Amino acid sequence: MNKLECKIVQDLLPTYIEKLTSPETNEFIEQHLKECKECQNTLEVMKKGTEIKELKAKEQINYLKKYKRKMLLSKIIIGIVIISICIFLGIKIYQWQFLSQIFDHNINYEIGNNYKLIERNGSDGATKEVVCKENIGYAKLVDGTIIWEDNNHKFFILSNDKKYFEVDKNSLPSGVTDNFITIQTQNLFNEIENKNELIQKILLNHIDIHEEEYRDRQCYTILYEGEKIWIDKETNFIIRDDYQGKSIDYTIEINTVTDEDVQFPDLQGYEEIIR
Ligand SMILES: [Zn+2]
Repeated sequence: MNKLECKIVQDLLPTYIEKLTSPETNEFIEQHLKECKECQNTLEVMKKGTEIKELKAKEQINYLKKYKRKMLLSKIIIGIVIISICIFLGIKIYQWQFLSQIFDHNINYEIGNNYKLIERNGSDGATKEVVCKENIGYAKLVDGTIIWEDNNHKFFILSNDKKYFEVDKNSLPSGVTDNFITIQTQNLFNEIENKNELIQKILLNHIDIHEEEYRDRQCYTILYEGEKIWIDKETNFIIRDDYQGKSIDYTIEINTVTDEDVQFPDLQGYEEIIR
């Protein structure tokens, strides 16, 4: 076989494989291939090489497609996570603003205001009354005990035993709180000393806030670990607290307390207990 013709055909083969050669050239190449075993072999080898290249290119494209799909999926997941965190924080910030206000209004309520509070037990109707005017407070507990206090003194008057004892408010014995004038809910606000503890409680627990009517009042309700609290929308005071089947109703009057209401009780006939 003519070596020069072989050279020409072999030079043309890559273009021929890509089907870029003219019909006349094709005819010339095919005619030559029929008679030349060597060029046939060269064509086979070149075709295989091209197939492998195409296969590799396809693999690369598939890999890129998969990569793009993965990237899109992670972007979607990151987006969903960010949106969820924003929604979570939004709800918690709303709850913080709401509960912090309720906390200040009901729990941090300091002696010195003028108000009357009646706590009524839903099951037996037993009541605890607290009145407070200008740093003087007077409380009548369910068991008949009376607590009278001003800035410096706290008197516990055990009416049933006709006995009383006095504690110095500046050095309170353990177990005696320095202020009885608080509305203690049974669980949600119980044991919360300050705002930091309130933030923790809000962040770490599931709390539901809704609206409801109670005692003809428009109320917010707070649901927390089985406890439900009703808050009067107009006054912001807690007016009912349910927990583990027990309920307490609160009635609050503002600026109705007179000096007579908080007068020091008559201790005639009472025996002093020294602590
Ligand atoms: Zn040849």
